[in-house]
Amino acid sequence: MADPRGRLRRTDTCGALRPKDAGRDVVLCGWVDSVRDHGGLLFVDVRDRYGITQVVFNPETAPGPFATAKTLRAEYVVALSGRVVERGSGNVNRGLPTGAIEIQAGFLEVLNTSEPLPFPPADESAASEEVRLRYRYLDLRRPRLQAILTTRHAILLAVRRYLDDQQFLEIETPILTRSTPEGSREYLVPSRVNPGRFYSLPQSPQIFKQLLMVAGFDRYFQIAKCFRDEDLRADRQPEFTQIDIEMSFLDAEMLFALVEGLMGEIFRTAGFVARAPFARLTYREAMDRFGSDKPDTRFGLELRDLTAGMEHSPFRVFAEAVARGGSVKALAIPGGGAWSRQKVDNLVDAAKGLGSKGLLWIRSNGGAIQSPLLKHLTEEGCRAVLRDLGAGPDDLVLLVADRWKSACSILGALRLQIGRTERLIPDGVHHPLWIDEFPLFERSEEGRLVSCHHPFTSPRSEDLPRLEAEPESVRALAYDLVLDGMEIGGGSIRIHRSDLQSRIFALLGIAPEEAESKFGFLLSGLRMGAPPHGGIALGVDRIAAILSGVSSIRDVIAFPKTASAIDLMTGAPGSVTPRQLKDLFIRLDVPTDGPKPDA
Ligand code: ASP
Repeated sequence: MADPRGRLRRTDTCGALRPKDAGRDVVLCGWVDSVRDHGGLLFVDVRDRYGITQVVFNPETAPGPFATAKTLRAEYVVALSGRVVERGSGNVNRGLPTGAIEIQAGFLEVLNTSEPLPFPPADESAASEEVRLRYRYLDLRRPRLQAILTTRHAILLAVRRYLDDQQFLEIETPILTRSTPEGSREYLVPSRVNPGRFYSLPQSPQIFKQLLMVAGFDRYFQIAKCFRDEDLRADRQPEFTQIDIEMSFLDAEMLFALVEGLMGEIFRTAGFVARAPFARLTYREAMDRFGSDKPDTRFGLELRDLTAGMEHSPFRVFAEAVARGGSVKALAIPGGGAWSRQKVDNLVDAAKGLGSKGLLWIRSNGGAIQSPLLKHLTEEGCRAVLRDLGAGPDDLVLLVADRWKSACSILGALRLQIGRTERLIPDGVHHPLWIDEFPLFERSEEGRLVSCHHPFTSPRSEDLPRLEAEPESVRALAYDLVLDGMEIGGGSIRIHRSDLQSRIFALLGIAPEEAESKFGFLLSGLRMGAPPHGGIALGVDRIAAILSGVSSIRDVIAFPKTASAIDLMTGAPGSVTPRQLKDLFIRLDVPTDGPKPDA
C-alpha cells in the first residue's frame, strides 16, 4: 500500500467498499467533500468520481492523523489509510452505496490544499452558469456531470463495438480542409506557408466519406468533430460531435435497419429500450399531423386539415387563403374551452411571434360558443367547425389559414408549447422515428433553389423526369432520425454518377467552372468507378442530452461554449499578437469597440 517513496497507494475507490470489506486495511484517495466535528471525533467524507466514503478520525487511537484532519478544508486532496468497519445498524446512511461502512483512519496525507472555491461544486444552485463555465473543472466535479460524461463514454464505446461487429472501419478525415457544403458559415484557418490562403474546418466529413466509398472502404464510420459558425441555441454548439456513417451498395432500408440496431445499443447503454422497427412518417405527413419535420410524437394533439371546401367559406380570410393555394389547419385542445381569456390571448400573441398573420379560435365553454369568428361564421358555423373536428362542449379549437407550410408550422409550435405547459409529454418515454420523402430543394428567401439536405443527395428515381421542369416537386432519398421532437440524425442516398451530380449543381446555380473548382475532386472521383452509396450522421451531443434527461447540450460536453461561442474558461476566441498576424499576412479591420459578428 505504500510506494517506494513512502507514499500511500490507492487500494480502493471511494465508491467501492461494502460490509463484506469489513476488517480490511485500505487506502483511499480523493477530495474532502465535508468535515464534521462530532463530540471529539472528526468525520470526513472523501469523494472521487466513484462515490463518497465516510472516514472517522479518533484523537485517542490516532492523535497525529486527527491533528492533521483538523486542518482539512473542502476540496483538499488527501490520501488516507485505515480499517474498514461496519457501522452500527442505527448509523447506516441509506443515501450512500457505501453507507453501511466507514473507515477508521490510521494515517492521513494531505496531497494538496485548495483555495476557497468560487462555489461549492455540489450545490447546483450556488452559482450562475457563467461562473460554472468559467471554472468548468470545478463544475465537472459534480456527480451529476460526472455521471453524464460516463454515460456519454459508454454510448461511444457501444457505438464503436456495434459498428466494428458490423465490419465498419473507423477512419479519420482531415480537420484542415476545404469548404464542405452543409449550408452553414465556416470557420477559416489561415495557412502561414501559403500566404493568403485558408483552410476550412469541416462542417462534416461528407465529401471525404463519399470518396472513401470510391476508394472501396464500403463501410466507414467516424466519431467526427464538426464545425459550423452558426447562431447558437440550447441544442447547437460551434463544434459538435457526430457519429458519421457511410456505406456502399445499400438502399435506405438497409441503412434504417443498421441505425435501428445501433440506436438499440445506445438506448440499452443509457438504460432504455428502443424497439425496432421505428415508426416512419413522410415529411408531408409529419408536417400535416404534427406541424413539424421533427415531431414530438410522445403525445397526441394532432393537427387537422380543414382546407377542403373552404374556398366557399363566408369568412374571407379562409376563402382567400385557399384560393391562393394555402391551407386552413386546426388544432383541437380538449378541455381548452375553460381556459382563461388571458391564456387564449397569450396563444394569439405567441402565434404572432411565430409569424402568424392571425391565430383564430373557437371555444365551447360548457356549450356556450365564444369566438372572434362569430360575426363571420355565425354560431351555427362555429359549431359546425367544432363538430367537424370532433371537439366536445369544453374544447378549444385554434385555426390558422396561411401557406400550407406556415399554417402547419405555426400550429405545430403551439402544439409543442401546449404539450409542455399542460404536461402532456410523459416523462422517461422516448420516441425515435424516421422522417423521409423530404423535398430535394426548397426556395431561399431570394428565390433561388437550395438543397434541403446537401447537394450530394440523390433524387428519388421516379421523380427524376421532373427534375428540370418541376424541381420543387422532386423528392429526395433523404431521411432524418427524430427523437422526442429533436432531429438527432440526417442522411441520404447519394448521387454516385457525375452526370446527375452536374445536373443538380446546375439547378443550384453552381456554374460548371465553380463546381469544378470547389468540388472537382469529388466529380472526378464519381467518374472513376464510384459505387452506389449513402449514409447518415447522428448527433452525439443531442442523443446524450436526451438520454441523460438534460435540456442543454452544454451539459453533455466537457468544455462547451456559451451562446456567443465563447469558451469562458480559456477565453477563446482570444486576440493574437501583431507578430502572429504578420506571419499570416493578415491585417485586421475591426471596429475599435470590438468585433461585431454581423457588422
Ligand atoms: N453530412 C451530413 C450532415 O452532417 C450527414 C449525411 O448526409 O451523412 O448533416
